[in-house]
Amino acid sequence: MNQSNNETKLCKKCGKQVPLNQINVRVNKGVRRQSNICKDCYNAHRRQKRREANIRKFMVDDSMKLQIHYKEIHPAHILAMEQSGIELIAEEEVFVKLLDYKDSWISNYGRAVSYYNGRYSFTRKKVNKDGEICYQLSRNVFDGRNWVWKKQVIEAWKLVVKEFIVNHDIANNICCWHKGNNKEDTYYRHLYPLNQYQYDAVRRYYEETRDDSEAYILDIMNSVNYRPDGWEPSHMRKSMFGIGYLGC
Ligand SMILES: [Zn+2]
Repeated sequence: MNQSNNETKLCKKCGKQVPLNQINVRVNKGVRRQSNICKDCYNAHRRQKRREANIRKFMVDDSMKLQIHYKEIHPAHILAMEQSGIELIAEEEVFVKLLDYKDSWISNYGRAVSYYNGRYSFTRKKVNKDGEICYQLSRNVFDGRNWVWKKQVIEAWKLVVKEFIVNHDIANNICCWHKGNNKEDTYYRHLYPLNQYQYDAVRRYYEETRDDSEAYILDIMNSVNYRPDGWEPSHMRKSMFGIGYLGC
């Protein structure tokens, strides 16, 4: 029989008329049967089911739950206070050397110190258009030929997060929630690096309830609803020796 090449069938899912060879075929006990949906719809359905299953697995696996962790500071990177003449804001304040910047240190309270002309002094604070405290520091950058010092303005929270806080997603956590939405507060235990979706959720909730407890922020961090674009739950499984994961 001479079957026409442009025969089509209606997909029950997307409602499109599609060529017969684009209709999904199911094989049951060796019998091939044309189904009512197109291949695209079938594959999309399969992907969706797999993702839902992975999310369910992710939700019940406590090893994938994020916690707030702080970094251990290498003693060799801590500024010796006796010789600096700098007065501490609190007994627990420590200044840690910023390896990418020239003769500069950041403290766990977000204060920056620089060594210049034979003495240590506080780096002047600036406030950017978002209300974030910033510092202008000389960063070691490669200009294509040489490593040179280039003046750069950087937010205090970024320096504090980098030195003191375990950041679970360096690529996507471009925002920082300051406890009480107080951007002048750059004390490390009051900073939460978040992605844009998480940050917006925390801010909305805080504006409604005045609650920004660590428990709430952790809930947002662990929710599947505020993940970065392209996030795959199966990539978060700690598949490498129970520690490493693929990530995004
Ligand atoms: Zn379809």
